[in-house]
Amino acid sequence: MPLSKSETPRFATGKIGWNRVIAQVLSPRISGESFLFSAPTGANAMPPFSKGNQGEPEGEEEISMSNQAEERYEDSILYRIRHSAAHVMAQAVLEFYPETKYSIGPPVENGFYYDFDLPQPVVLEDLEKIEKRMRQIIAGGHTFVKKVVSAEEARQVFKGQPYKLELIDGLEKGGLDEYGNPLAEKPEISLYQSDTFTDLCRGPHVETTRQINPSAIKLMSIAGAYWRGDEHNKMLTRIYGTAWRTPDELKNYLKMLEEAKARDHRKLGKELEIYIYDEEVGPGLPLWLPHGGVVIEELERLAKEMEEKAGYLRVRTPHLAKEDLFVHSGHLPYYAESMYPPMEIEGVKYYVKPMNCPMHHKIYGSKPRSYRDLPIRLAEYGTCYRYEKSGELFGLMRVRSMQMNDAHIYVTEDQFEEEFMAVIDLYKKYFDLFGIEKFVMRLSLHNKEGLGKKYVDNERLWLKTEEMVRRAMINGKVPFVEATNEAAFYGPKVDVQIWSAIGKEFTLATNQVDFAQPGRFNLAFMNKEGVEETPLCIHRAPLSTHERFVGFLLEHYAGNFPVWLSPEHVRVIPITDPQNEYAEKIVSQLREEGIRTSADTSAQRMNAKIRSAQLMKVPYMLVVGENETKAGQVSLRVRDGSRADNIPLAEFIIRAKDRITKRSSTM
Ligand SMILES: [Zn+2]
Ligand SMILES: [Zn+2]
Repeated sequence: MPLSKSETPRFATGKIGWNRVIAQVLSPRISGESFLFSAPTGANAMPPFSKGNQGEPEGEEEISMSNQAEERYEDSILYRIRHSAAHVMAQAVLEFYPETKYSIGPPVENGFYYDFDLPQPVVLEDLEKIEKRMRQIIAGGHTFVKKVVSAEEARQVFKGQPYKLELIDGLEKGGLDEYGNPLAEKPEISLYQSDTFTDLCRGPHVETTRQINPSAIKLMSIAGAYWRGDEHNKMLTRIYGTAWRTPDELKNYLKMLEEAKARDHRKLGKELEIYIYDEEVGPGLPLWLPHGGVVIEELERLAKEMEEKAGYLRVRTPHLAKEDLFVHSGHLPYYAESMYPPMEIEGVKYYVKPMNCPMHHKIYGSKPRSYRDLPIRLAEYGTCYRYEKSGELFGLMRVRSMQMNDAHIYVTEDQFEEEFMAVIDLYKKYFDLFGIEKFVMRLSLHNKEGLGKKYVDNERLWLKTEEMVRRAMINGKVPFVEATNEAAFYGPKVDVQIWSAIGKEFTLATNQVDFAQPGRFNLAFMNKEGVEETPLCIHRAPLSTHERFVGFLLEHYAGNFPVWLSPEHVRVIPITDPQNEYAEKIVSQLREEGIRTSADTSAQRMNAKIRSAQLMKVPYMLVVGENETKAGQVSLRVRDGSRADNIPLAEFIIRAKDRITKRSSTM
């Protein structure tokens, strides 16, 4: 699997994730429900979206993006409402704290923020009065008036506002917009005034503040943010707000946030004893507790079964390799930033691997291959290490060590489409199994200007492989969007975005079509004509990393794993001590059957025992009292609230085994 920053989530910043756009395109009903994780789209870049997919068949509503009203977030009314609300908030803040220096205030996913250099700290309670004042300003029905000015005029307007003056310098020189993002052309400098507030701004806004619904805005939080995102700069105060079209939309959003909070994998991970971090071990290096270990084992068992059926071969590779290997692969120096520094021994530098690909390439290349041997599918749950800044680590979503559901598939060009679709089918099987109803793939393409710099300089192969992937996705009816200038160094990639049960969005994994690395490693096969050819390589990781996927599953299921994935299938609860022996007997009998079982023989009362099993979200409780013991029966309490009293143990065993072996989602 290739190194990809888009695997890692970020808090919403001034950037707008492509996910947001897709959310609106694909399903208006969930718009606004994705909030925490947004796939970065490259350094400070707005998402470059192609308008629909070329060459798409007509009348395929399911996959066709171009047949739907595709509206970019930047063009939407919500974007304008939020941007305008940021102005109104800045005005209110300046009224309360006239000494404030203000910097930038863009709309973001689900809302907006403004960064202030405040003369005094503000606390959450202050947001109330700012919000109240915002409503008054909105009621004033002020028009947003644009004025194009010279840099000199702009400097006069923003005298004493150092951040604005710096931005004006950037605008004047060209190359940077008013948010400090790179800009191709030298922009005009424009101001927007509404009521008493003037901002350095390109728009767009609503026409008057009346178009902001005062009952659909809310100030959410306060955070620290470095000026221009640079830790050497001053820390400013960022106030986040959210704004919607209607109070109902706001209400739904807040409800979703509430629900998401309860499902936060960091909270559930702790409560359900899935993983911990230890200071001495180090940040971003999760320790999987026994419960987490079970979930991981189950996922690996699943992957191995699926991959075995699909003809994968399992390999194993070390965690370290010599510098040469990563120079060879092109990851040094291009990705050195994401790698741990080398360790030197016997005069040779070694790196912990940030990915498994080069080692799999070596395995492929370890003997001569014929076209008859292909496709060759090498799979490994490989452990990789990537350096992430400590400030950017986040629960299980952004970590420094990760175990990846990795595989590399070496194919001839003729085999590509079929094999690629087999990979997509594998994804779909997993999505079915986990009840992931909504997903989108993004085909990330190169751009011509980047050839030879950002991208391998072979336009013919770029166009060809891109078209191969596009055709395969269209033929396979896979929902996808395209993005230019988002590819990886050595080939087009497909980012997979999934939505959890409550509509929260996750970047799952990046698949890649690689036409360059096999060549770098001199990988070859003998074709039908007896001539050596270079295979294509598909990198894929449908189950992502254990870290990311378990994090996702925790939130998706709210900790209520289906029976087969539950760390503990059954908890036996003897009502009083005399039943302890029977309880233990049940435990050994169920374990014999491969059912993960324990008995709560503590001194607690029955209700407390039930409560603690419920807290751990154990799917089945078997309560045994005097009667059950005598009759060799159990009283079953299911996590979903249903129960079946006095059933034969054998009957329960059949039910549990059925759910487990079928990986059923029913209880
Ligand atoms: Zn790879
Ligand atoms: Zn503006």
